[in-house]
Amino acid sequence: MPKDALPRLRLTPPDPFPKLVPQSNIQVYIMQAPTLRDVYEAKKTIAPYLPRTPLQHSPGLSKRLDAQVYLKHDEHLPLGAFKARGGINLLAHLSQEERDRGVITASTGNHGQSIAQACRIFGARAYIVLPRGANPLKVAALRSLGAEVIFHGDNFDEARAHCDRLAKEEGYRFVHPANEPLLIAGVATQTLEVIEDMPDVEAIFMPLGGGSTAAGACIVAKTISPDIQVVAVQSEEAPGGYLYWEQGKEVEAPTTTFAEGLATRVGYDLPQSILRQHLDDFVLVSDDEIRCAIGVLIEEAHTLAEGAGAAALAGALRRPELVKGKKVSITVSGANTTLPQLLEAVKVYQGRN
Ligand SMILES: *Cc1c(COP(=O)(O)O)cnc(C)c1O
Repeated sequence: MPKDALPRLRLTPPDPFPKLVPQSNIQVYIMQAPTLRDVYEAKKTIAPYLPRTPLQHSPGLSKRLDAQVYLKHDEHLPLGAFKARGGINLLAHLSQEERDRGVITASTGNHGQSIAQACRIFGARAYIVLPRGANPLKVAALRSLGAEVIFHGDNFDEARAHCDRLAKEEGYRFVHPANEPLLIAGVATQTLEVIEDMPDVEAIFMPLGGGSTAAGACIVAKTISPDIQVVAVQSEEAPGGYLYWEQGKEVEAPTTTFAEGLATRVGYDLPQSILRQHLDDFVLVSDDEIRCAIGVLIEEAHTLAEGAGAAALAGALRRPELVKGKKVSITVSGANTTLPQLLEAVKVYQGRN
């Protein structure tokens, strides 16, 4: 997609909801990036459901990185990851009629769980489309959150295509993992909390998968002060978001990373339109560097993270010159690791130390 066809950032407050505009038989979302005002509103919206998470100084990491390092502990949230911030904000803004029709998405991971949980809170039906053979533990978790699980196809692309079809045929509200202003405004509350707790923060490190969180961080940080550096970190084993940011267009990339939260094949238009305008730096790290960051978090900060949850720290460890001498916030975005993933991470970390 050419750069000038990207959704544009507006300075006026956006409509609370993207409009559907029919265009040559295709339904196209006209999307507007959320503003800081939307993030403040999201903060009020999610407050009854989610606790504020701690921003904690880490003496061990500060010493290791020769910086004042603070960890933003979003793994403390219910469901063990930050995504509920977005899911709850989105569901809170749907009409009763939309909730009654139902909400559909395709994800076994933290996104699917966040939507399922938000649907339960707001009395909407949640349909989650998964490929046959999806991890039964995750299927059980989705069902226990009240979601109706629909199996289709042999892989995620087939499941997603079926999800699109059902949304069109049945009129369900399709929830995209990243091209959703309300999700971005919701997850951006994380950065708002960081800056409220530490107004003199100089750099913020974020993991990047679909890009909503990093885009939300840019909106909040850059509106408050252009001097706050925002750095995104992605696995080089799933570099679709990085390639879009670098080249200004969708580039499909393989995903072989173990960090499921980062495993997206492409970058998405709405977060990328924000990232390309505001993001200061983008760091790619190897999966083994992410595994080592999981080990460092355990040893230096007594903190459990899943792969995606340790990626931001892995980026700071990879590029220490970006943090040296600064006051930095590093996000721990989630802790939903399996035991085998954790054992493998500890093994790699010990082998390198
Ligand atoms: C989804 C997810 C990410 C990536 O966030 P995006 O907003 O998709 O870029 C990072 N960490 C965890 C734990 C996640 O679940």
